[in-house]
Order: sequence, then structure tokens, then C-alpha cells
Amino acid sequence: MAEPKNESMFPKLDAAQIARLEPFGKRRRVDAGETLFEIGQQHLGVFVLIEGNIEIFSPSGTVVTVHEPGEFTGEINLLSGRPSVVSARCAEPTTVIEIDPANLRRIIQTDPELSEMLLRAYVLRRAYLVANSVGDVVLAGSSHSADTLRLKGFLTRNGYPFTYLDVERDAGIQELFDHFQVGVADIPVLICGNRYVLRNPTNAEVARCLSFNTEIDHGTVYDIVIVGAGPSGLAAAVYAASEGLNVVVLESCAPGGQAGSSSRIENYLGFPTGVSGQELADRALVQSQKFGAQVNIAAPAIGLKCAKEPFAVNLASGEHVHSRSIIIATGAAYRKLALPNLAQFEGVGVYYGATHVEAQLCQDEEIAIVGGGNSAGQAAVFLSTRAKHVHLLVRGPGLSETMSRYLIRRIEESPAITLWARTEIEGLEGNGQLQHLRWRSQDGAAEIHDIRHLFLMTGANPNTAWLKGCLALDGKQFVKAGMDLTPEDLETAKWPLQRPPYLLETSLPRVFAVGDVRSGSVKRVASAVGEGSICVQLVHRVLAE
Ligand SMILES: Cc1cc2nc3c(=O)[nH]c(=O)nc-3n(C[C@H](O)[C@H](O)[C@H](O)COP(=O)(O)OP(=O)(O)OC[C@H]3O[C@@H](n4cnc5c(N)ncnc54)[C@H](O)[C@@H]3O)c2cc1C
Repeated sequence: MAEPKNESMFPKLDAAQIARLEPFGKRRRVDAGETLFEIGQQHLGVFVLIEGNIEIFSPSGTVVTVHEPGEFTGEINLLSGRPSVVSARCAEPTTVIEIDPANLRRIIQTDPELSEMLLRAYVLRRAYLVANSVGDVVLAGSSHSADTLRLKGFLTRNGYPFTYLDVERDAGIQELFDHFQVGVADIPVLICGNRYVLRNPTNAEVARCLSFNTEIDHGTVYDIVIVGAGPSGLAAAVYAASEGLNVVVLESCAPGGQAGSSSRIENYLGFPTGVSGQELADRALVQSQKFGAQVNIAAPAIGLKCAKEPFAVNLASGEHVHSRSIIIATGAAYRKLALPNLAQFEGVGVYYGATHVEAQLCQDEEIAIVGGGNSAGQAAVFLSTRAKHVHLLVRGPGLSETMSRYLIRRIEESPAITLWARTEIEGLEGNGQLQHLRWRSQDGAAEIHDIRHLFLMTGANPNTAWLKGCLALDGKQFVKAGMDLTPEDLETAKWPLQRPPYLLETSLPRVFAVGDVRSGSVKRVASAVGEGSICVQLVHRVLAE
């Protein structure tokens, strides 16, 4: 592997910076050949190299880099306490300053110059590891398997490096599967930490195997539990943790929510050339962890015990998290088309997100997208750079009522995109994998197209089923909050306080709703982030009551 010595990824600390770090750590000598840390070791601190060198090895034993005096070890998982995906050894007698995780966090929070240097290097190093598949996870699957796509998406969206082996491209993998009696239902197989073999694991099993989460203390009553780590939940986590509140975030899949499935967000303030949803989510996650938020992945809330305080959020594992206040940031999930065999093709031809993972599957193929909103428009523009041709299908007469002007213009100008107005999908056909689409334009005959990839971007329903009767919801099951709660809502909910609900507060005191899950919300990244941020001020207020 080529040695990636780039100044931002491997900056050198000067004497003054090292002097500022020294009081936070312990200076020590390391013998030649001594291992500083192993692959899989958790809760690592940082080693600042004073003299000698530190070799960093990938799980396959190749040298990733050799640190020189003035450089420091580590990457993003130092902040989350997750296991290391590389090991470190000193080839010659070496002097280091060892700083433990608590002191590392202190430096990041109090020294802006060092904080910026460390965080930039850590984020870039993780991006390098992901791009070069440096890690201890191998995923062996098939492009015809929906669970393979699920796990690829889960690892990618959680920023975890992995090597992918495809049965269709590598005959040796099929032989290996036959040898170990891995049947179709067992695919994909995930080799985790170079040790455990997981056959078609759930996301929660993968998260457990890779130690994604820190144990929740079930005896503690937290200040806030934030349910959902989309833009609104992550914003709330950053503000809550930075203001000293004891906060746990529960996320059923991966940080970023719907925004994480967007290839490019162009209307978010401060990013004139756009930012991918994944990048925005990664940065927000790091930011929340830097302040000490505990973010739990693959940990869906399945119920809320709201009859007495402290509240208890029920987890799928059967455990509860207790809290004095709750922020509901569970957003919305993609709406499905009413086609009888839709489920059969989900993940094997029918997709709800248009990220780089799905784009790879559509290289030089014709694809169809259903939807007239901005998410459909973004997907069309993004996928037209990969696919042979994009067919954009909308039920209405055109896009002007539902899509931003800048996207309409790009679609009109692109020879690789055809807009089909007043058109609806009538059928999906294929055997194991989607092969043909049947659609009908108004007054036209049904047409069959050889299209193997269909993207459904037709809006979303709120993720509120887990709240079961605790809160006032509107007719479409979005959570009502603040001024949207009518006197009848409050009477039905037996609102117990003299004061009316605060902005974003639901019909239950101390429980708030932010972002897309809230009735009447704007359904934009910026507004979700804004609501998550504002909400924390109101949490302070209710906790002081
Ligand atoms: C493809 C696409 C492109 C988009 N592009 C843009 C754009 O360019 N500009 C723009 O401003 N907006 C855009 N949007 C809209 C924007 O992404 C949303 O408005 C925003 O993500 C809403 O944030 P949120 O945090 O409220 O909810 P979400 O993003 O929906 O996040 C909710 C999170 O909660 C989790 N969750 C759900 N239920 C549970 C549970 N029971 N327990 C634990 N976790 C749970 C979900 O897994 C998810 O991560 C786009 C949306 C899509 C789908």
C-alpha cells in the first residue's frame, strides 16, 4: 500500500503544541518491537511521537503508514471508543506522550487549534481507511441479494471500512460457500473482526460484533434521550452534549436519516457547491461525540412508557432507557407503491435511496425514478452521470409545482433524462431480480420497458408507530407540538400544567418533537437542524421547572 503522507492527514506538531499537550499525558519510553495497540482494542488514547517511529499495520499486515516525530496516532474511533481497525508497533526505541481518552476529549474541547488539527486528521484518516477497505470486515454477498445491499448500506453509512467479495464475480467464493454449506438464505456472509462468521446477520448483530455502541447504563436516569439520529436528532445531540446535559441518542439504522441517503444537498447554508448527506452526517456525528454524546446504532426505540416520570424508552433488546425528557426526532420513512409484488424486488431492483452504493449497480443501465419532489430530482441528476438513461415518472402534469427550479432546469438540459408526465407504474416483472417495468401514461397504452432498476421517491410517512397512544398526532400520524395543539388535544391528553406547551413540546410535558416527524414541519435539512438546536434550550427550561 502506498504511504499516504499528506500534511492534513499527518500533520506535524511543533514544539509549542507538544508543550501544550504534555500536561495531559504521560511521557514514556517504548522498546524496539513493542506493540502500542492491537487491532480490536477499544477506548484507545492518542500517542504523540517524540522520538523514534510508530508503524501502523492493516489487518492483512501491510504497513498503512509510519509515524515520524511530531506526529500522533489515531483516527475517528478514538472519539467513539470503538475498536481499532489497525495495530501499532515501534520498530526502534521510541519516546511517546500517551494521552488517555478523557484527556483527549478535554484537549479537543478546550484548545481550538489542536482540536481542529486532530479532528481534521482523524476524519481524513477514516476516509482513507474506508476508501482503501482497510479493516477487519469482509462481506461476501451477491448483487442479486437484498440483504447484501442492506449490509453494504449499513456499513457504508456507518463509515466502517470493509472488503466486498461478490459471488457472481468470484467463482472461488461460491466454491467456499458450497464447502461450508452456506445456502442462499445465509447470504451475505460477514466475517467480522477477522474472527466471527455471521450468516446473513441483522444490523444489530453486526453493530454488536463490531462494538459500535457503548453500553447504556440502564440504572441511570438521563437528562435527555433523543430518538433518531437524522439531522434534527444530531443537531439536538450536539447542543445538548455541548451544554453539559447527559444525553443518549438511539438510532435504528445509521446517522444521517433521510439526508444521509441524498447524494448532494445543495441548499444547506454554508455549502455553496453542495455536500453529500453522508458527509454531513459523518461530520455531525463526530461533532456530537466530541462533546460526549452517546450515540447508539441499530438500537430502535419500539415503545415509550409515558404514564409516569422518569420516562422509559423501550428497546428491541427488551431493555429500557430512563430519562427526564425526550426528543422525538424519528423523521419519516419512504412511502411505498401499491404493487402486490413490490416487496419481492426491494433491494434487488427497487430502491428508496440514491447513494453511491446504489449508483454502482446502475452503471450504463437504463433506470426509472418515480417522484416529482426534490429528492427525485436530485436522484435523477446524480444517477444520470452513471446510468445509460434515466426515465423520470410523475403522476402530475409536470415538475413546476413540486420541484425546485434549479433541479428542473438541470433535468430539462440533460439529454440523459426523459420526463414522463401523467405516468404511473402498473407492474414489476422479473424472476428473483427486477427485469421489466410496465407503465402507462394518461390516455396511452401500457408500455413494457427492459429496466432493472427502479427508484421510488414518492414522499414519506412519519415514524411514529412506536409512540402508541402517548401523544396527540395529526390525521397523517405526525406528532402535534406547540401552537399546533388545540385546546381539545390538550384536554384529551389531560395536559397537567398551568402553562401551555412550549414551541416543539408535545401534548406530554417534557417530550418534544423536532424535524420531519413534527406535524407541519418544513421537511428540509436546515429546518430539521434548526428545530433540533432550538429544542435544547426548551429542554433546559423544563428540566429546571
Ligand atoms: C433522497 C433525499 C434527498 C433530500 N434532499 C434534500 C435537500 O437537498 N435539501 C433539504 O433541505 N432537504 C432534503 N431532503 C429532506 C431532508 O433530508 C429531511 O427533511 C431531513 O433529513 C429530516 O431530518 P429529521 O432528522 O427530521 O428526520 P430523518 O432524516 O428522517 O431522520 C430520522 C432518523 O430517525 C431514525 N429512526 C426512525 N424511527 C426510529 C426509532 N423508532 N428508533 C430509533 N431511530 C429511529 C431513522 O433511522 C433516521 O435516521 C431530502 C430527503 C431525501 C429522502
